Amino acid sequence: MPAVAPSEFPPPFDPADVIGLPTDAEDERIEVGIAIVGGGPAGLACANKIMQLLEDEPELTEKLGEVPVAVIEKGKVAGAHLLSGANMKPSAMEELFPDLPKEEWPVFQEVTKDAVYLLTSKAALPLKPMPPNFRNHGNYVTSVSKLGRFLSDKAEEAGVYILSETAATKLLVEDRVVKGIRSGDRGRGKEGEELGNFEPGSDVVAKATVLAEGTVGHLTYAAYDYFDMHGADPMRWELGVKEVWEVQKPLDRVIHTMGWPLRKSPRYNEFGGSFIYPMGEDKLCIGLVAGLDYTDATFSVHDALQLLKTHPFIKDLLEGGKRVAWGAKTIPSGGYFAMPKRLAVPGMVVAGDAASMVNVPTLKGVHYAMHAGMYAAEAIVEALKQDSVNFEAYDEKVHNSAIEKDLYRSRNMRQPLSKGLIFGGAMGSAMVATKGAFPGGHWKVEDDAEVPMELGKAGDMYVKPDNELTFAKLDSVFLSGNATRDDAPNHVRIQSKVPREIAQTWVSMCPAQVYEIPDEQLENGAAEVDVHVTASNCVQCGAITAKGGRLTLPEGGDGPLYQET
Ligand SMILES: Cc1cc2nc3c(=O)[nH]c(=O)nc-3n(C[C@H](O)[C@H](O)[C@H](O)COP(=O)(O)OP(=O)(O)OC[C@H]3O[C@@H](n4cnc5c(N)ncnc54)[C@H](O)[C@@H]3O)c2cc1C
Ligand code: SF4
Repeated sequence: MPAVAPSEFPPPFDPADVIGLPTDAEDERIEVGIAIVGGGPAGLACANKIMQLLEDEPELTEKLGEVPVAVIEKGKVAGAHLLSGANMKPSAMEELFPDLPKEEWPVFQEVTKDAVYLLTSKAALPLKPMPPNFRNHGNYVTSVSKLGRFLSDKAEEAGVYILSETAATKLLVEDRVVKGIRSGDRGRGKEGEELGNFEPGSDVVAKATVLAEGTVGHLTYAAYDYFDMHGADPMRWELGVKEVWEVQKPLDRVIHTMGWPLRKSPRYNEFGGSFIYPMGEDKLCIGLVAGLDYTDATFSVHDALQLLKTHPFIKDLLEGGKRVAWGAKTIPSGGYFAMPKRLAVPGMVVAGDAASMVNVPTLKGVHYAMHAGMYAAEAIVEALKQDSVNFEAYDEKVHNSAIEKDLYRSRNMRQPLSKGLIFGGAMGSAMVATKGAFPGGHWKVEDDAEVPMELGKAGDMYVKPDNELTFAKLDSVFLSGNATRDDAPNHVRIQSKVPREIAQTWVSMCPAQVYEIPDEQLENGAAEVDVHVTASNCVQCGAITAKGGRLTLPEGGDGPLYQET
C-alpha cells in the first residue's frame, strides 16, 4: 500500500477561532493584575517570582488590584496534568528559593551514580565512557506533579490565586494587544448542549498575560499564527509514557537505555530511549520516550514500554514490585530552531515548553521552564512599573541566558538521531564533543505530520498484557486517575474517515485508547476506514496534534489526576 502523510488530512479546526475580543460586558469581566495560563514549572515559578518582586513595589502592587496574580490551570489541582522524568537540574530551585534548605525541596534524592546501557533483545551492554549528555551527577530526581503542588502552595502562601479546574480557551486581543483570556464553559453535553449544571466561561482581563501552557499549547500555537511568531523550524515532539513502581530492591543509580525495543533501521525513524530513575528506597519510575516522526503506523510507545519491561535486565529491577502510577505526555523536541522568533508581543509573553525550551539530548526542560518563568516575571514587573505592556526585555533575558546557549549547542542533535542509532549516535557524539560546532549550520527538519506512514510490523512485536508486569492501555488510563465525564463534548479534532494507514497511526499511537476502527472494516481490509473517538479516555498527552489532528481544551478539571508522575 502507498505511504500517506497525516498532514494530508487536516483536522476541522481554525486557530483564529481561539483569538478574539472580550465578549462580556465591561462590568462583568474578571479583572486580575497578571494572568498566567498554566500551573506547571514555568507558570508557577513566574507567579512566585512576581510575588517576591512585588514585596519591594507597593505602588505597583496597588495598581495590580485585589488579585495581583492569577494562575489558570485546567487540571483538578496544580500538578494534576504534570508528567516528567523528572531528573531536574537544581539551578532554578536554588535561584527561586535561595534560603530554602534542600531537605525541604519536593525531591526524592540527589543523583550520585548513573549508567547508560545499549539494549539488544536479550543483553544490556554498559556504555563506557558514558555519553556526556547522560551525565546527571548533582541533579535531583523529583516528580513534577509533586513539584507543581509544592510551587502552587508556595505561590498561594505568597498571595497568588490558583484558579484550578479552569481551562483558558480563548486569547483576548484588542488592537493587537493581548488583554487576557476567556475561560471555558462548564456543564455542556456531548452535542454541546447546556446541561442543568451549565456555567458559562468568563473574560479574565489582565495587564499582562503569560502563556506557560507547556507542550502543545492551545492558545500559544494560535498566538504564533496570529502574531507571526513561528520559529525557523516547525514544532515537533516526542511521546513519553511513564510508570511508577513500588519495588523490593532500592535502585542505586539513574539509568538510561538506548536500542531495543526501538528498531535501529533508519527506515523506521524510531529515535528514543528509556529512563529509569530511583524515587527513594522503595519506588522507581520507568519511562520510554520516542520521536513522533516514526513511519510505522502500528508503532505504539505504550506497548513498546510494556515490551521493554520484559527484557531480563529491566524485569529484574521490577521483580516482586507493583505498578502504582501511569501517564503519558509529549515533549517538544524541535529545540533551538523551533523556538518562536520572538517571545513577547504587546501584553503577552511565552515561557517553557510552549516556547520549545527543551534540551532533548539531555532530556531536560524543568529548570529551563522555571528560569524562563522568572525572567518573564522580572520583565513584566519592570514594564508595568512604567505602565508599559512592552515586555521585550524578556526576549533579551532569554537570549543572554543558559536556556538559549544550551539549546543552541544542541541545535542539530535531534535531526541525525532519527536516522538510525549508528549514524545518529556517531554524529550526536561529535556534536556533544564540539559543543555543536561540528558540523554546524542548520539541519532542516520535517513536520512530524508530514512523515508518510506505512502499515508495518512493529505491532507484531508487542506482548499480551499479563496484568503483573505488562498492562493494557485502558487499565493504564484508569491508573492515571482520569475522571472525564462520558457525556462531555469531544475535544479531539480529527477527520473521521481517512486511509487505513492514518487511522491505524492514531489507534496505535494514542496511549489512552481513544481511537478505534470498527471491527468489520478491519476484517474486510477497507482502504478507507471510520475512526471512532472515545474522548473521555484522553489523558491530554498532545500526540494527536503532532500526527495530523488537534487536541483542543476539554472542560476544566477533566483529564488525569497525576499524583507522582
Ligand atoms: C516523559 C517526559 C520525561 C521528561 N523528563 C524530564 C527530565 O527528566 N528532566 C527535565 O528537566 N525535564 C524532563 N521533561 C520535560 C519537562 O517535564 C518539561 O520541560 C516541563 O515540565 C515544562 O514545564 P512547563 O511549565 O513549560 O509545562 P508543563 O509542565 O507542561 O505545564 C503546563 C501546565 O499548563 C496547563 N495548561 C496548558 N494549557 C492550558 C490552558 N489553556 N488553560 C489552563 N491550563 C493549561 C497544563 O495542564 C499544565 O499543568 C520530560 C517530559 C516528559 C513528557
Ligand atoms: S487522544 Fe488524547 S491521549 Fe490520545 S493521543 Fe490524543 S491527546 Fe494523547
